[in-house]
Amino acid sequence: MPVPAPATWRIALSVPLPRLFDYRPADGASTPAAGCRVKVPFGSRSLVGFYVEAGTADPEGPELRTAEAVLDEVPLFDPPLWQALGWAAGYWQRPLGEVLATALPVALRQGEPLPDTRIAFWHLTEAGGTALAGLRRGSRPRALADYLAQGERDEAALAASIGPGWRDALRRLEARGLAASILRVPSREAHAPARAAPELSPEQAEATAAIDALAGRFAVALLEGVTGSGKTEVYLAAIEACLARGRQALVLVPEIGLTPQAIRRYGERLPVPVLVLHSGLSETERAATFARMARGEGRVLIGTRSAVFSPLPDAGLIIIDEEHDGSYKQQDGFRYHARDFALVRASGLGVPAVLGSATPSLETLQHARSKRYAWLTLRERAGGARPPRVRVLDIRSQRLEHGLSRPLLDAIADCLARGEQALVFRNRRGYAPVLLCHDCGWHADCARCDRPLTLHGRHRLICHHCGHRRSVPPACPDCGGLALVPQGAGTERLEEALAARFPGVPLIRVDRETTRGRDALGKHFDALGDAPGILVGTQMLAKGHDLPKLTLVAITSADEGLFSADFRAGERMAQLLVQVAGRAGRAQRPGEVWLQTHHPDHPLLQTLVTRGYPAFAEAELAERAAAGLPPFSHLALLRAESPHAEPLNAFLAAAHALAHALARAQGSAEVAAHPPMPAPMPRRAGRLRGQVLFESTHRPALQSLLRTLYPALFDLPEARRVRWSLDVDPVDLY
Ligand code: ADP
Ligand code: ZN
Ligand code: ZN
Repeated sequence: MPVPAPATWRIALSVPLPRLFDYRPADGASTPAAGCRVKVPFGSRSLVGFYVEAGTADPEGPELRTAEAVLDEVPLFDPPLWQALGWAAGYWQRPLGEVLATALPVALRQGEPLPDTRIAFWHLTEAGGTALAGLRRGSRPRALADYLAQGERDEAALAASIGPGWRDALRRLEARGLAASILRVPSREAHAPARAAPELSPEQAEATAAIDALAGRFAVALLEGVTGSGKTEVYLAAIEACLARGRQALVLVPEIGLTPQAIRRYGERLPVPVLVLHSGLSETERAATFARMARGEGRVLIGTRSAVFSPLPDAGLIIIDEEHDGSYKQQDGFRYHARDFALVRASGLGVPAVLGSATPSLETLQHARSKRYAWLTLRERAGGARPPRVRVLDIRSQRLEHGLSRPLLDAIADCLARGEQALVFRNRRGYAPVLLCHDCGWHADCARCDRPLTLHGRHRLICHHCGHRRSVPPACPDCGGLALVPQGAGTERLEEALAARFPGVPLIRVDRETTRGRDALGKHFDALGDAPGILVGTQMLAKGHDLPKLTLVAITSADEGLFSADFRAGERMAQLLVQVAGRAGRAQRPGEVWLQTHHPDHPLLQTLVTRGYPAFAEAELAERAAAGLPPFSHLALLRAESPHAEPLNAFLAAAHALAHALARAQGSAEVAAHPPMPAPMPRRAGRLRGQVLFESTHRPALQSLLRTLYPALFDLPEARRVRWSLDVDPVDLY
């Protein structure tokens, strides 16, 4: 029985409106499958959208336009991915079209076909076989022909075997009809890994077996392992088992963790090519990776946040390394959380997910405590390395030299004298965080943010919030005094002070200014080598590098985060301190960590230092429970900004009233909509900022309110006069 064509097509478009759009079917086209890309007119433009469902609009309606073309026979999203993305749009409150577009590499978003991922394999033709002996001995064409006579080869193999000039030689053979190529998908056959696995420790073996036991169904395991305990070896073993079952594996890593060193480690140890997805790839490469995964040619994908959208037709395992890392949360546009979305995908695909960290997020820990996640632990460092010793240095009465105390400088000197390396950590770039007038107390503020400007070098002031720059004034603008003094120390100042104190010692500064582009970090470490030396830098130093000679980690200030208004500041500080401390003594030499603080008795710091991260996390969880904060409640944050107070306040008041009315209509007394408040940073880049916080202990109640609130916000007349966004499960409250 022929299915009647639907009256209209309902299309998801990547435009900032929370709805689908009806179109008359494209001429002569049959109804596409859900998820197929469709080209449609929109205003004066032509957009690529996604077919969702049949519409009920009147096809004869005068304002209805006709779709231009259907671009796919088969949707780019397989059914589980399509479903998961639909869920994501609903959960994080974002137009479906925008979510779908975000999930695709730009080339595909713009309507290009799924790229051809076949590659050229070359062979000798019959004529080539006959002519071979006649080619001049020692020439490149002869070498190439000899090589091809052994069998068919891809171009990478030719380049490796012949060296420079191979392509020229190949062209000459091809022009004479002696060599020819065919396009084929590279073989999926496993090869022997370049490097053998170490023998797993009993803890590692146990964790691997536990993950293995979860194969074939959805389950989540938390792998909590101290820094250097060999979590990556557990991932590798679990991936091997997954590959042996004929399945694909996805590994998510934080942006900063995806170094060439890390990629090489996976590549060398696995018996299949490893595909990589990160911000350094071209759009062509991204589209090709998407295609290889979609066609099942790619078996292992390792990538940063957006890799969570990769097709996984043969999914077997999803790993999220450093699951606590803030870079998994997208902070603008479609504000998804890649870790949480990875779990939704694992659930839809019916495969296990592993969350790994030395410092798990409190959200994840709470799930492990309540037995929703399996809880695997690695307590020992791999290969016999010892945990570092931590010393708290009370600097209240100490004279600091550019932020460094005497005992700390002495410890660095001893470390260098032993032929070892020291890491000096300070999470502030620039020369000094404040420029102060010693005569009157004036300090240089950003005129657009009301926050102190950071001094860079001796002459430049830069706002770290909006990028505003100005030069240091010749005299204090308030009192005319000349005593403008830098207050506090950033990484530049530490570098200068350490260079003066330890002349001739190799010194490398690692922060956003000195470390740009892929593997800039790796190059820094190579430059340092094994010789005694000092690394000074920001949290870029916190992750994943093995520096066997690094035995001393100095944290110049442990105080940030102890008194912050953000309830997550303590958790973040603890994670950062533990991760940085974990750089010390990863090999045979024992490590020590020095912590400078003005608050040596602060209970948070005490618990962390004397009893470690797990005890700290327990204490924090107890406090969160008592205060009714996440993970014991769920938040959503409506943010708005405007250059003027009146439209901002009008919008926030209207939104708050609307939320109240909707909550009452739904009978959901469980959702609290707090009154509008200024944002913790009330002005930024010249815009006033405010927010309304929604909170509930019952996630479905909050979700149900947001579902009606979000589209209704677009209809508020006040919404047109401000910039606003909704952040579900916000991680930063500013
Ligand atoms: P993590 O990811 O937990 O910080 P890694 O997996 O990077 O730890 O391992 C830390 C170091 O210990 C690496 O150099 C790794 O090669 C080594 N290692 C891990 N497991 C073993 C093992 N079973 N035997 C010997 N060395 C190991
Ligand atoms: Zn002054
Ligand atoms: Zn500013």
